[in-house]
Amino acid sequence: MIVGFIGLGRMGLPMARNLAKAGHDVRAFDTSEAARDAARAAGLALVAEAEAAADGVATLITMLPTGRETLAVYEGTTVLAAAAKGTLFIDCSSIDVASAKRAHGRAGTAGMASLDAPVSGGIGGAEAGTLTFMVGGTAEAFAAARPVLEAMGKKIIHCGAAGAGQAVKMCNQMMVAANVAVVAEAFVLAERLGIDPKVLYDVVVGSSGNSWALEKYAPVPGLAPMSAADRGFTPGFTTALMLKDLKIFQDAARAEASASPVGASAMQLYQLMHDAGYDAHDYSAVIDFLRGRKAGIPGN
Ligand code: NAD
Repeated sequence: MIVGFIGLGRMGLPMARNLAKAGHDVRAFDTSEAARDAARAAGLALVAEAEAAADGVATLITMLPTGRETLAVYEGTTVLAAAAKGTLFIDCSSIDVASAKRAHGRAGTAGMASLDAPVSGGIGGAEAGTLTFMVGGTAEAFAAARPVLEAMGKKIIHCGAAGAGQAVKMCNQMMVAANVAVVAEAFVLAERLGIDPKVLYDVVVGSSGNSWALEKYAPVPGLAPMSAADRGFTPGFTTALMLKDLKIFQDAARAEASASPVGASAMQLYQLMHDAGYDAHDYSAVIDFLRGRKAGIPGN
């Protein structure tokens, strides 16, 4: 299948590479010269503009930071006009539901099929081709997308109509952000009480306080091999992107009058990290941020 791919960042590049590895003819594009260089070095075929990634392809995938960039492609370029009618547009970025629905609307008006299909699994999952896809859109578009998504992921779940993939994704993000924060909080206090982090880890991994955030992403080096703590908190998934996801969740919670006290608190914490210059760090650097605080209440 001929597949266009726009957005070759930390996630997009390995995803596009897996598509090519599975035998798809990939036409890759990114606005950043550094991302283009990395894609070239990885053996991907680059095109010179976004429209060329849509011209003559069966499927066009976008993997961009926020709803703003996704809509910039869907509305701010002539990508939709460059694609043949019936082309399947799949946005894998994590974005707010309203922007996702707007992108679906634009695609539909232009005669295209479309899906929102955000992912979880991080760069490790993107590299290994084991991502989870949370998909929103029609059953027909979902069925058509399967061969392409299966080249990049292991678990591919149809969550419902347009925007449903993003709704599920933001829930996952709020849960993991809050989990990572509480694990960090516990490790900082345990450190101050003279507890060996490995002892805390070993006990809680086998106890009711366990979570993915602890078991796989423990915030101190040497405990969980895939943790960003083992690489000095280089991302991974940046604090900036996590803050974006928490804002998406809070906006949705407010719009639905749904209570979110813990999510609101996590958002406040990641906002403070952002203000303190942690934007480009992995979001699990929250432990580093908390170690520097005077007391346990964000803002102190
Ligand atoms: P990234 O910043 O590494 O990559 C984004 C890429 O998009 C960059 O290379 C940038 O140059 C490019 N780009 C921006 N605007 C563009 C435009 N208009 N046209 C073409 N290219 C453009 O981000 P990432 O970590 O790859 O994340 C991408 C999305 O996936 C985000 O929505 C993020 O929340 C989500 N996500 C990330 C992870 C992770 O672990 N990094 C995991 C799951 C989901």
